Amino acid sequence: MSDTTVIPTGFYENYPALLSEQGLEAMRDHASRDPDGFWLEQAGRVHWHKKPTRGFSGSFTGDVSIRWFEDGQLNVSVCCLDRFLTEKADQVALIAHREGHGPAERLTYTMLHERVCRLANALSHLGVEKGQRVAICLPMCSEAVVAMLACARIGAVHVVLFGGFSAEGIAERLVDSQAVVVITASTSRRGSKMVPFKETMDAALLRAGASSAVHSMLVVRTSDEPVMMLPGRDHDYHGFVDHFEADFVPVIMKAEDPLFMLYTSGSTGKPKAVVHSCGGYIVWAAYTMGMVYTFRPGDVLWCTADVAWITGHTSVVYGPLANGGTTMISDSLPGHPYPGRWWDLVQENKVTMLFTAPTAVRSMMAEGDEVVKKRDLSSLRLLGVAGEPISPDAWLWYHDVVGQKRCPVADTWWQTETAGVVLGPVPGAQALKPGSASTPLPGVDMRVIDQQGKVQTGAAEGALCIARSWPGQARTIWGDHARFVQTYFSAAPGLYFTGDGARRDADGYYWITGRMDDVINIAGHRLGTAEVEDVLGEDHRVVESAAVGIPHPVKGEALVVFVIPRKDAAGELTEEGIGRFVAKQLGRYAAPEAVYLVPDLPRTRSGKIVRRLLRKIAQGETENFGDLSALNDMAVVKTLCDRVWAQS
Ligand code: ATP
Ligand code: MG
Repeated sequence: MSDTTVIPTGFYENYPALLSEQGLEAMRDHASRDPDGFWLEQAGRVHWHKKPTRGFSGSFTGDVSIRWFEDGQLNVSVCCLDRFLTEKADQVALIAHREGHGPAERLTYTMLHERVCRLANALSHLGVEKGQRVAICLPMCSEAVVAMLACARIGAVHVVLFGGFSAEGIAERLVDSQAVVVITASTSRRGSKMVPFKETMDAALLRAGASSAVHSMLVVRTSDEPVMMLPGRDHDYHGFVDHFEADFVPVIMKAEDPLFMLYTSGSTGKPKAVVHSCGGYIVWAAYTMGMVYTFRPGDVLWCTADVAWITGHTSVVYGPLANGGTTMISDSLPGHPYPGRWWDLVQENKVTMLFTAPTAVRSMMAEGDEVVKKRDLSSLRLLGVAGEPISPDAWLWYHDVVGQKRCPVADTWWQTETAGVVLGPVPGAQALKPGSASTPLPGVDMRVIDQQGKVQTGAAEGALCIARSWPGQARTIWGDHARFVQTYFSAAPGLYFTGDGARRDADGYYWITGRMDDVINIAGHRLGTAEVEDVLGEDHRVVESAAVGIPHPVKGEALVVFVIPRKDAAGELTEEGIGRFVAKQLGRYAAPEAVYLVPDLPRTRSGKIVRRLLRKIAQGETENFGDLSALNDMAVVKTLCDRVWAQS
């Protein structure tokens, strides 16, 4: 992996760095000397009804218990809205753009507060009580943000479900969470596809039957088509909610009361709902977003993630609002309705910070540089990325072409379980290395362990673990604490195990090598999937690739790669050529057993490649794929099975 490129601190002359290099070091030092003192100081970033005097209590051993700021009391919606009502009453809090619905809706802090209060009243009227669950299944529209904050205001636990889930997937999650109210939409478009929200929800409830606890549904009319409403259960969102009062006294919560539960993406198996609590989460959201991004007057953050993912929770809703920022949402997809659509949205809305997923960067890169160069992107100051490893090549394209070498690129590594950025740079305060998720934020005690569970020092490669709790750490898996302990705390005693592998270089920068179960062992050589994909990414004719290991009688495991060629280069790339290239770059042992040129890859609905499925397909399996509820498009599975079958 090319970790030789270093962009030094000070390279971005006009970037308004939050801290100096020394300032960052001082924070790290404070956090390691006096963790509780450090975190209690960070807790001051949000508004408390009763300020906490305690930092962490609990333990990573035995039954594992994680509690933060235990004696504090607060309401998260107050942290995100009320506290800005004097100073920032007329500042835009939320820009909500919907494709085909004219100019974006712009809600000030005052307007957002009013809407949240009306819905809080409506939910209370429907009988929702503190601690009960409310499922939110909406497209990217302002009501999604309002709904999350309204739950927070009444102390209900929100469960945001991705709109693209099947009825089965939704039914399973409604039953598991025992949600009492559902907030959904009529229909919505996702690119060229129509997503039937209400219809799917009806089917899910039918399927769940008596196992579901849902008694009411609010339906946002996101389209003009007629909607079937079940009298007594279903209400038209605005027809119902807009009559309620625009004021609601927030319910005061204990710091450890749950704020939300959220299902993970399902890249590695059956999705699990992790639980996050009010105090620790909001401090962590304010802190991590405040360290990586800036929220100065005029700043607009557009995080393109769907609210149904952790990035949507923290980078779209809670992080920007807890920092008094302006956040933008849009339901537009890259390249839709035309290449360069996103750049027009950046230009129109004067976006200063763009945060997206590597897969979106790669697809925009495939559209070619001209598409970007034609637009005025001078409003941009910072670029962010998260969700999957980004190859140095894609990083540099994002940096050089989109950011015109003016904007730092922050590659941030985090998980549903970490709730916020754990590895990531403080832009302007430290050097950047393309392809590396930089260093742990101050207060994060990152470790790399070897196969025996021994903690490594200095430059090392192994499993990524965290030695000390952080305020935004997931408290448990909903309804299954034993699975929580087993999944995250059994790899090494006293350490939180992330499930990912990483290499730490001599400067302390981290390079994610992929999921630990994706590390391929070829005749004793350990090879990360990300390393192979990085190498393939160097060939500009490759849009995207995925590497997996399959069992091999002699070598233990063998490498198989799937490659999506650029449309205009399909004829030039050959399977043999790719095989030779990988072997030349990584060594002969890494010569792939098979190479498949394919039109697409199986992805989760959050856009991540599902390698566990590719592993099975590569072995010639055509069924028994396990839980596929998180899969975006089933058709691609068949295409790939046919492809492998034809070539074997
Ligand atoms: P599941 O846990 O259900 O298998 P998931 O792990 O994909 O799904 P998320 O919590 O949404 O669900 O994703 C977190 C994972 O995404 C991380 O563990 C890591 O593998 C990957 N990831 C996130 N950010 C980065 C990054 N910057 N670089 C590399 N990988 C990343
Ligand atoms: Mg995971």
